[in-house]
Amino acid sequence: MERYKTAIDAALDLRPDQPVYCFRPDVLRHDAQQFQSLFPGKTAYAVKTNGEPFVLEALAKAGISCFDVASPAEFAAVKEAAPKAEMLYMHPIKAQSDIRLALETYGIRTLSLDHEDEVAKILRVVRALDIDPGTITLFVRIATKGHAAYELSKKFGAAPGHAVELLQRIDRIGFKCGLCFHVGSQIEEPETYERALASADWIRSRAGVPVVELDVGGGFPAVYGHDPRRKAPEMPSLVELMGQLKADIADWQFDDLPLVAEPGRVIVARSISLIVRVLLKKGRRLYINDGIWASLSDSWTGKITLPARFIPDPARKTRAGQPDKIVPFKVCGATCDSVDILSRPFWLPETVDTGDWIEIGHIGAYSLSLRTRFNGFYPDKVIEVDTPFDFGAAPEGFASIETMAD
Ligand SMILES: *Cc1c(COP(=O)(O)O)cnc(C)c1O
Repeated sequence: MERYKTAIDAALDLRPDQPVYCFRPDVLRHDAQQFQSLFPGKTAYAVKTNGEPFVLEALAKAGISCFDVASPAEFAAVKEAAPKAEMLYMHPIKAQSDIRLALETYGIRTLSLDHEDEVAKILRVVRALDIDPGTITLFVRIATKGHAAYELSKKFGAAPGHAVELLQRIDRIGFKCGLCFHVGSQIEEPETYERALASADWIRSRAGVPVVELDVGGGFPAVYGHDPRRKAPEMPSLVELMGQLKADIADWQFDDLPLVAEPGRVIVARSISLIVRVLLKKGRRLYINDGIWASLSDSWTGKITLPARFIPDPARKTRAGQPDKIVPFKVCGATCDSVDILSRPFWLPETVDTGDWIEIGHIGAYSLSLRTRFNGFYPDKVIEVDTPFDFGAAPEGFASIETMAD
């Protein structure tokens, strides 16, 4: 991988016309180790957040030895990057052939489910392979309610009464029982986990069967930018949030159980930024070489505001506008699709123009993993950068949404 001190150095040296991902292994290691040191249990990185080999390898080096996987391609990616790592197959609804592959080829012994038909599928494979059910932990995924930028309980999760029946059923067969939930991504209220724990406690006491493990899922919020015209969202830091989660776990008497978390975003978001180029400026619109069908689909949903930094092209000798005036630009993506327009503006100096670059920060989560080849555009260049996105940079080249509030 080519290596630069900053993304600005890279942009000025490479003058890239295609998007460039700037990977910061030290930031990834820091954020992975911080999570592991704060969470009082096993950290299982959620591979769907960013399953690139260079990310998985860096995580393995940082000491992550457990991965939350959902598909054969994810099993293979983890096996390749971290051959000794444990995998948790936490997709509640699986193809029977994938269950077989997980158990037979990858030696996976932890799975989740939210319906009795899934128990039947798993049991069929277990019988066919003559595996002792007592070596397998089945986590019942419970439905949760709460506020996250992305709610996932609409799709998965058993209601409390149903979860009780499922636990009793899998205990009767001889599987080990676990309880899990996933409150959604980028939670917006610290109480979200507590409500889920309360529900898990009710289910456990009603089921009356031994529960050997509790998995609190992902959802831990990453740090992003914010729209300067709106009030900054009031979210506790990860340290505070984890303090509260630990207290809640103790209050609901889950602290004597082995715990698992499945963080994605909070571990990988900060470690990658993206250099995009302005292909054309048309009034207050910028046409860039990336968009919702490539790295920016997560921000397209309108929930996340990414911080952005202006990297002017020194080859441009004349500019209109005032360099210290930060104004909103509508950002149009690379494809010919008319929905390929970001739902939030980028706030940048008025002088930004055709040929300039923008470094979009904290984009490691749900960016590379959501790229499509739509219309023939597929950003795939990765370089290594030493300096964290939030460090350095001359003020006039800094269009972070955060500093605008000052
Ligand atoms: C996506 C997902 C995660 C990761 O969520 P983040 O919000 O990125 O932390 C964890 N667990 C499950 C089951 C998921 O589907």
